[in-house]
Formats: sequence, C-alpha cells, structure tokens
Amino acid sequence: MPDLISFDIDGTLEAGDPPGVIGMSIVRTAQELGYIVGSCSDRPINTQTRIWDEHSIAVDFIVLKQNLGDVMGRFKAEKYFHVGDSEVDKFFANQAGFQFIPAEVEAWELALPNLPLERQAPNSHLS
Ligand SMILES: [Mg+2]
Repeated sequence: MPDLISFDIDGTLEAGDPPGVIGMSIVRTAQELGYIVGSCSDRPINTQTRIWDEHSIAVDFIVLKQNLGDVMGRFKAEKYFHVGDSEVDKFFANQAGFQFIPAEVEAWELALPNLPLERQAPNSHLS
C-alpha cells in the first residue's frame, strides 16, 4: 500500500509565497516512487490547481486546509503525512490523523529518508 503526502504550499513548497524548502522536483520524485500526493492549503482550490498546472504536476488531491480529513476517506494509504510550516498545519494534521512534518530539511529527511531534498534540480534557486 502506498504512503500519502499532503503538501501545504506557502512557506512549504518551492512554488509557495514565501518559497519553502520542498522543491517541486521532490513532489515529482514522490509520484514516481508511488506516493499519493496533493496539496492542502489556505489558497483557494483554483489557485492551488493553477500552481500545479504551472509545474505540470498532476496531483491526486487538492483540498482546503480544514478539509484534510476528507483525504483519508478518499485514499487508502499505509501512512498519511502532512508537511507544513505553521501551527495551523500541525493542528489540522493532528485533527485528521496525519503525521505532521515541519517544512524543514532535517524534519523532512527524518520522516521521508527515501526522498532526500538534495535530489532537487541543481538550478533550483534554493540550492
Ligand atoms: Mg504555509
């Protein structure tokens, strides 16, 4: 059974405002490895959709932060992760039964060692 990763956007993903430490290439790699991936953000659904479209990434789900719990009902996964940069992320992750991963290099690599952040494209503005 796959694992599932929910990404906050702002302060978490490279494409966020402000940009976070998680490169968009990591999301692609996670998909290639069979993870179920999607976003869970305060941004309206159509804005989240546009961000993924701009990076040519077809995610499995896009939800508002308060609806993270719905994701567990929609997808059968071994583990459910939500990565985010705020206490609000932590709150909704806990409420939905997800493991919260702070959007920090060390915390990410500890939780998901098979998705190291240094696999980001060398031209990433964060490297
Ligand atoms: Mg955020």
